[in-house]
Amino acid sequence: MEDFVSETDSEYTSYWRDWFLSSRGNEYFCEIDEEYIMDRFNLTGLNTEVQYYQYALELVTDSFDLDCEDAMRDAIEKSARHLYGLVHARYIVTTRGLARMLDKYKKAEFGKCPRVMCNSHPLLPMGLSDVPNLKPVKLYCAKCEDIYNPKSSRHASIDGAYFGTSFHNILFQVYPTLVPTKSADRYIPVSMVSKFTPPQLSFVGRISNASICAAA
Ligand SMILES: [Zn+2]
Repeated sequence: MEDFVSETDSEYTSYWRDWFLSSRGNEYFCEIDEEYIMDRFNLTGLNTEVQYYQYALELVTDSFDLDCEDAMRDAIEKSARHLYGLVHARYIVTTRGLARMLDKYKKAEFGKCPRVMCNSHPLLPMGLSDVPNLKPVKLYCAKCEDIYNPKSSRHASIDGAYFGTSFHNILFQVYPTLVPTKSADRYIPVSMVSKFTPPQLSFVGRISNASICAAA
């Protein structure tokens, strides 16, 4: 698999990320390149956003060897997941990150639009805020240009800032051929009044409607 740096170090160096990505509820995340996460420039500013930043980074990059109590380990683990999410938001708007998310999009790994007129068009994860801990992730359908809540509670609780407010727009700017034909189709309700009320009775429309509804 070309995702790994080399065959020899792949199993060890991606241990934490493999575990994270294979955990239930983390299906929306893609794998961040080793070289991206090891480049401190890409992590600029995150040291003030993440508690136990250095330990969290060591955990994510499989270089953590601190002997600590379980409570501390849990706190670092939580910080590592937060760090991964924040780096993920930056990574998925890079060329390689976009390509990885595109691959998942094509496989409809983010789900399909529940709107009947969209014919199961695949969805994309997106944030309503770039600031963490404000809004959970939503799913965007490019066909109806509307957003939806994830079906699973595991996904619905993911921080939207881990995907960001621009990712879905950038994806379609970089891959314009993927912009779907907008769905102008709308369901038109069949009016009970126009279906059942003869035109000559329209002056008593209110009474007719009430009796029709009661009878229905
Ligand atoms: Zn849709």
